Amino acid sequence: MTDLRDQLPAFEEAARRLLHAPRRLVLVHARPAACHPDRPVNARGLCDSCYETHWRNGTLGQFPTKRTQRFRDDFVAEYRHLRSYGLGRSEIAERLGMTRNAVDAAYRRAVRAGALAPDRRAG
Ligand SMILES: [Zn+2]
Repeated sequence: MTDLRDQLPAFEEAARRLLHAPRRLVLVHARPAACHPDRPVNARGLCDSCYETHWRNGTLGQFPTKRTQRFRDDFVAEYRHLRSYGLGRSEIAERLGMTRNAVDAAYRRAVRAGALAPDRRAG
């Protein structure tokens, strides 16, 4: 099984030609999902559809979020996702295995960093 990572230099060249992008312009590649390397990662190393499936089956716990620099990206993706189902922050905390305070803090950091749009209502 191959993934697309070894083709990135060629993609980058092609993208720069198409975009007429100067060298100083940094092109950001989406990370490949661990489950389906041909798809971009949503959160927890999973693509959108696997994330959705594991979320529905309650098996997301098999794919723990890592508290690394990726933590905020994962948090933002999951927060948006759960929010879109109408869950409040306490329910989101429960889903993510975080305390409510930790969710509030991560939310504030993400909003301050411009990574997340503020909620219309706090819940
Ligand atoms: Zn997948």
